[in-house]
Amino acid sequence: MADNETGGVFLDGGHFYRDTWAEIDLGSIKENITSFKKHLPAETGIMAIVKANGYGHGAFQTAQAALEAGAQELGVATLDEAIALRRQGIEAPILIMNRIRPEYANLAAKLGLAVTVFHKEWLAEAAAEIEEGLTLSLHVKTDTGMGRVGTKSKGETAELIKEAGKDGCFKVTGLFTHFATADELDSSLFKQQLAVFKELVQELKQLEICPPVIHCGNSAASLMAPEELFNVARIGISMYGLTPSNELLPVLPFQLKEAFSLYTRLIHVKKINRGDTVSYGATYQAEEEEWIGTLPIGYADGWMRRFSPGAEAIINGRKVPIVGRICMDQCMVRLPHEMEVGTLVTLVGQQDDEKISIDDLAKLAGTINYEIPCLISSRVPRTFKENGRILENMNVILNF
Ligand SMILES: *Cc1c(COP(=O)(O)O)cnc(C)c1O
Repeated sequence: MADNETGGVFLDGGHFYRDTWAEIDLGSIKENITSFKKHLPAETGIMAIVKANGYGHGAFQTAQAALEAGAQELGVATLDEAIALRRQGIEAPILIMNRIRPEYANLAAKLGLAVTVFHKEWLAEAAAEIEEGLTLSLHVKTDTGMGRVGTKSKGETAELIKEAGKDGCFKVTGLFTHFATADELDSSLFKQQLAVFKELVQELKQLEICPPVIHCGNSAASLMAPEELFNVARIGISMYGLTPSNELLPVLPFQLKEAFSLYTRLIHVKKINRGDTVSYGATYQAEEEEWIGTLPIGYADGWMRRFSPGAEAIINGRKVPIVGRICMDQCMVRLPHEMEVGTLVTLVGQQDDEKISIDDLAKLAGTINYEIPCLISSRVPRTFKENGRILENMNVILNF
């Protein structure tokens, strides 16, 4: 909306007008990257994975924080995500880890992006698109047991690399694989995948066609097997301060700092009588006189319907239960006593001595922590903070 369409009301850049927002502590992200740098061998670089809007934390801001803290490159899932980062002025190397359409190879080359390749036919189609004088950087993906994408054998991988080498428009800069079970303690598949990958690297070296940059580790492998990562660690979930799995939580080699908090405010407070019901389906019924507060957040914000019953909120340093079904835009809490409209409510994060973590919500919804911040929708503005200071706000709905 242009400002003149708001009836003369000037929209202040970076503002938001609702009482629900997420706070991203960029200082925590920097600390996590710094901890990884100390933990990893000196020769292992860091690729900060900022796909899916930085796991819901804001891709541009978290990418910048990670780069400032010492990550050398970035990883995304889609060409659109990479374009967005370039548009915002990020010049660091970016790898697109999923397949892009061969017809966009020229665009990727122009933007200096590295793309993932695992299929010979893709090379021919892409080569036809790339303008004279441009070179596209390729990372060859090999499937050592994840069963998603990638070459399936040493011969196929070698052939792909040789094929790409024939055309001056390509430069094969990387070789990588992805682990399916690095987040499990003592996984035989992890060991098997690593062995297959090592053997492949050995063979490619013997053939003198091994790409210079080799990588295999996600957060879990980087935490648990830092010596096995070759040149680069691809750090996603743990750069945001979250454990790759509950199994690894007790054995993490250093403390991770959660960067994501979620806040709202009471927008209505009322007393209800014994027998009164709350929300759709009337599934919650007051057993006595109760104080009920209304929160302006619902499942359209990624505050999942499945969170109730079970989820809690922290108000005035005390946990209170969410009661009744979560609606699209609102939900209700049971308060210990009357409280003022406007009172701060913490849905994820720390307030005084109480804490609600993303892991708590994941458990409640029967899913993994990755999914929770990813699903906090673009309707929820993000506030970026460092050392307690607000740096900027992101409000996708108003285009800033
Ligand atoms: C998402 C992704 C990662 C990051 O994984 P985390 O478990 O979040 O650290 C690494 N590599 C690839 C190929 C990915 O798709």
